[in-house]
This record gives sequence, C-alpha cells and structure tokens, in this order.
Amino acid sequence: MQILKDYINGQWVTGTGELLDVFNPSTGEVIAKVPVTTTERVEEAIQAAAEAFKTWKDVPLQQRMGYLFKLRDALLNRREELAQLISTDQAKHIADARAEVDRGIQLTETACGLPLMLRGDKIAVNAHIDGEIVREPIGVVGALSPFNFPSLVFGWFVPFALGCGNTLVYKASEQSPMFMQIIAEILDEMGLPKGVFNLVNGDRPVVEHMLNSKDIQAMAFVGSTKVGQIVAEGCAKTNKKAMVLAGAKNTMIVTKDANLQGFAENFKNACFGAAGQRCMAAANVLVEEAVYEQVKEIMLDVAKHVAVGDACDESVYMGPVISRQSVERIHKYIDIGLEEGCTLLLDGRNPQLPEKNKNGFFVAPTILEGVTKDMRVAKEEIFGPVVTLIKAQSYKEGIDLINQSEYGNGGCIFTETAIIAQDFLRHTNSGMLGVNVGVPAAMPYLPFGGTKGSLLGGQYKAQISDCVEFFTKRKVATIRYYGPNQA
Ligand code: NAD
Repeated sequence: MQILKDYINGQWVTGTGELLDVFNPSTGEVIAKVPVTTTERVEEAIQAAAEAFKTWKDVPLQQRMGYLFKLRDALLNRREELAQLISTDQAKHIADARAEVDRGIQLTETACGLPLMLRGDKIAVNAHIDGEIVREPIGVVGALSPFNFPSLVFGWFVPFALGCGNTLVYKASEQSPMFMQIIAEILDEMGLPKGVFNLVNGDRPVVEHMLNSKDIQAMAFVGSTKVGQIVAEGCAKTNKKAMVLAGAKNTMIVTKDANLQGFAENFKNACFGAAGQRCMAAANVLVEEAVYEQVKEIMLDVAKHVAVGDACDESVYMGPVISRQSVERIHKYIDIGLEEGCTLLLDGRNPQLPEKNKNGFFVAPTILEGVTKDMRVAKEEIFGPVVTLIKAQSYKEGIDLINQSEYGNGGCIFTETAIIAQDFLRHTNSGMLGVNVGVPAAMPYLPFGGTKGSLLGGQYKAQISDCVEFFTKRKVATIRYYGPNQA
C-alpha cells in the first residue's frame, strides 16, 4: 500500500503520526495512506519556508518566471498521469479530470505573465519629490485545498504565490492528496531551491498550527463556509492576510422565452458534472410557469440518461461522490426535502452498478420537484448530484432566491430577452453570473470568487490581478531630490 509523504525543506519525509485512509470512491477500496503531519513537522515546514524566503524574494523575477515555465512544461508532460490520479482518489470523471489538469496548466501559463502584473506606480508629488508604489512579496503563505479541485486550487495558489516571490507551506486535502504529491515531485525535479515549496498533509490540527503561527504571513483557503469561518477568524486573530473562497448554492433560471435547446445542452454539465461537487454547480433550477412542463421533461430525460459508473471509465459521464459520509449527507437531504413536502421526480439513491463498484460511494442524478424558495433543500449546500426544481411566476423570484441566499458564488439565466438578462445581471448579488451559460466559472484571466458566505476573510478573489493583490503587499516611498549645495 502506498504511504504518502510530506515534502519539507527539499526532502521527502515519512509521517511519524497518525495515518488516514485514502479511498478510491469508485470502488470503496483504500488505495493509500496519508499522514496527519505532526505539529513538529508542520513547524519544520514553516521554518524552512521562512528561511527560504530570505533569498527567494530576491531571486530575479525573470529567473522565478523560468521556474514557472518549467513547471508548465512538466505539467503538460505528465497531464495524463495527473488526470488519472484525480480520477482515482477524487473520482472526478476522467474527461473532467483532464479538463481540470488543463485549467491548472492554463493558470500556470497566466502566472508566467506576472512581470506585467507586478508593476508598481510612480507619481510626481512636486518638482523634486516623487511618490513610488512598489509591490513586494508577503512572506510565508499557508495554503489549504478542498477535496474537489486539486489542480484548479494548485493553479490559483502555487504559481502565483511563488511567482510573486513568496514561499509556501501547502496542505493538500486529506481526501484527495495524491495530485499534490506529483506537484512536489515536479518542483523538486525542477531544482526549486529547498524550502520554497513545502507540502504537508492531514486535517484540523495541521490547520490550527498554521493559523496560530506567527511566521506565516498569509493564508489562502478554499473549502466549506464552516471551515472558512474558522480560517478567517484565525487569521484575524494573528493579523494574517486571508483569502477565503468558501461554499455555494447556485441557481439557474429559465425564462419562458429561453432557448430550451441551449438549456438542454448545458443542464447536464451544470448540475451533474463532477457529480454536482463543484462550487459552481447549479443546484436549483427555477423555471417560469409557461415553460415549466417542457423544462421538466428535458431535465428528466437528460438526467435519467446520465451514465453513472467508475470515474476512470471513459464511457460513463459521472463518477461517485467523494466519501461514504457524503452519500449519507446527500441521502439525508433527500429525506429533508421529502419531509418538507417535495416529491422525487428522479431518485438517484442506490443506483445499479457493476460488481467492482458495488462498494463505491454512488448517488445517481436526483431531481426534487415541488420545491419552494424557503425550503432547506433550496437554501443549503447539498454538494452532490441533487437538483431542486422550482416553479415560479417570474424570473424575478430567481433573483430573490439568489439574493436571499447566505451564499453568493454564482448564478445564471437562460433567456432570449436582453432587458431580462440585464435586470438579472444588475440586481443579483452574486460573484459570477452567466447568461445562457450553464456553469459561469470565470476563465483563468478573469477574477474568480463570490460574495456573502462564499467569500470570507479579506474578500480577496482568486486568479489574475486579484491573486497579485493578495500575494503581494504594496510599499509606498516618498523620495526628495536635492540639487548640488549652493554654498
Ligand atoms: P472542507 O471545508 O471540509 O475542507 C477544506 C480544507 O479545510 C481541507 O484542507 C481540510 O483538511 C480542512 N479542514 C476540514 N475541517 C477542518 C477543521 N475543522 N478545521 C480546520 N481545517 C479543516 O471542504 P471540502 O469538503 O474539502 O470541499 C468542498 C467545499 O469547498 C464546498 O463547500 C465547496 O463549495 C467549497 N469550494 C469552494 C470553492 C470556491 O471557489 N468558492 C471552490 C472549490 C470548493
């Protein structure tokens, strides 16, 4: 059985503490063990990063970009291996896993343009005084990844943090830790100076130690709102900069004049891509009454034909969810929906699967009908392939649903009426919106992040200039120029 390792100060080290099981969610088998890095080891990683920062911050920008170019080439060379790993321990369907690896590559490529983004500014204060703004790295950054996007979140944090001149202590998700093992291997083989990138593993105690450390200057987190709040509060107490991208509950609206063919093409990926375990998944579908029956038929027809199976099997569309606990949570939410008075248009509990996947963590596409905006199933993050179907008099009820939500990551509308699209874009309090787009996840060159409970801490978003804002601090200098002495 593979025992995963920590990578600290340029060395691979075996864990001395507790070992957690890593599952293949498609089969339910334990495929590896991941250490919960001990407090002493986490501290070693922090100190290694602090020491490395003293020299890494002064490595010429062009040289730092050289490392990012090498990283990008190595990712391209190992693309398939990385995708297979994501498909195995995180159980994202292989096509989706390849797309996620590609997103990590695109983000690395975007970070290669950092010299253009790291520019400061200068202003003539008067004839002999200049004001200067210079961007500098912040120091040691602690990074925490969720289980569902190992490559995307790597791409948000690693190339930008290192490219800006910071050093990293990165904690992979204990549920999908294998991708980051290869990243550490790549960075090691590239000859990155020791201590610049450190990989630790585990869960809560590791995070607590990082939050309490006085030698970490910033924490970058992606995960649930519950844990995000712990991270944001911990950072506030120790005066750390905090990027906290958190949970979501996204609504897709269909108006009576919508292009239903377009909706049909987008619905499957929006709701059931990655088994609904995306912070940008559409979890509520709110439909205007005039087209409700038609949309319901489309949804049922598409959803019942979603091929569910082993995530590594090219012929299926959707793999399992991450864990047995996730299956239980999703089943519980289906029960809650039924207790609240909705009905099951499609029941994905206990799907039929081949023998080798009998112990996997599967829930097939599920549609709850008769849902109203005040029900828990319409408001809370279920994080699985469960969609609520809501009948509405007007799309405006969809805007209300989004605005009343504790989350504000994303939302979209299918409509052919420009003024309705504009009304939706203008009056919806959410970070990433789409018109006739199923999953409006922002491209690598646009800011990525939500509002309300989806974006905590310092309200820093991910990607492009928002990453530069987070991973640097601005220093302002006022400089006076005297002429030669007149005496
Ligand atoms: P999670 O919050 O359970 O875990 C995230 C990280 O926090 C992991 O590294 C985990 O080890 C650590 N952690 C877990 N419990 C902790 C505790 N009590 N104290 C300290 N650290 C703890 O999230 P997850 O289940 O891995 O990921 C899914 C969540 O992430 C969903 O809510 C999803 O919406 C969200 N997400 C958000 C975005 C976004 O861009 N907003 C992107 C991806 C995922």
